[in-house]
Amino acid sequence: MDKYRVKPGAKVRLSRIDPNDKGDFKGDKKEGRELVGKLNKELEALQEVLYASQKAKVLIVLQAMDTGGKDGVIRSVFEGVNPEGVTVAAFKVPSPAELAHDYLWRVHQVVPAKGQMTIFNRSHYEDVLVVRVHNLAPPEVWGRRFEQINAFEKLLAEEGTTILKFFLHIDKDEQKKRLEARLADPAKHWKFALGDLKERALWDDYMAAYTDVLEKTSTPWAPWYIVPANRKWYRDLVISSVLVKALKDLKLSYPENKDDLSKVVVV
Ligand code: ADP
Repeated sequence: MDKYRVKPGAKVRLSRIDPNDKGDFKGDKKEGRELVGKLNKELEALQEVLYASQKAKVLIVLQAMDTGGKDGVIRSVFEGVNPEGVTVAAFKVPSPAELAHDYLWRVHQVVPAKGQMTIFNRSHYEDVLVVRVHNLAPPEVWGRRFEQINAFEKLLAEEGTTILKFFLHIDKDEQKKRLEARLADPAKHWKFALGDLKERALWDDYMAAYTDVLEKTSTPWAPWYIVPANRKWYRDLVISSVLVKALKDLKLSYPENKDDLSKVVVV
């Protein structure tokens, strides 16, 4: 899965990265889903050790165009993990109080504590994406933010946070299909926002903004992964695999009980 990691300083050409890619995986959807299920079990066990050991912190950033599958990833990759140790933080249009502070203020408040895993559904990257595309701040303001974000993430990493960032890469045709599917299904109408069509019209501007993000903020301490995401099962497989490997690499173990339990009898 390392091939999806953006190497620091590398050029990114999103138009040349196939959102239908299946890498070296030879199996079909069914086999892919089975593998995701197995990784799910591993993740469940690893997250329990993370929670019990109260040492490491894990931050997962999800960014995508509308319909890109952020919610789907949260549902399927994290299925079964203990909700006590996992938090989802969603970043919406900032409130007046949030806008009155610097853009990282609302973010820093919800980063994971020891033993916790936090999933960012959108993130501080909106402050160099939507803010840039919609001219919500002048270029000299958002232009400074790449360095600020790298420094912020470095601080988190140096203080013990493992950071993994995923850009769910779909193409414009796939988005069309997904938006049409939402329109066709009354149970999905709540997910359909007319504003999504306006954002869709700005697709190329967003791709340019994402390219800058991926080129400027994939660092050794907080790498980006460009996840082929037209196939939902493959998207989940990539993210589950990266996550399981990162957690294994932490080599965490259950804490010893400070009492001698060898002679304890429960009556
Ligand atoms: P989602 O699409 O993530 O499921 P919403 O439909 O509520 O959730 O969309 C959240 C909206 O908030 C998005 O349009 C996003 O661009 C916007 N947003 C998030 N952060 C910011 C920000 N810092 N400045 C302006 N808009 C933001």
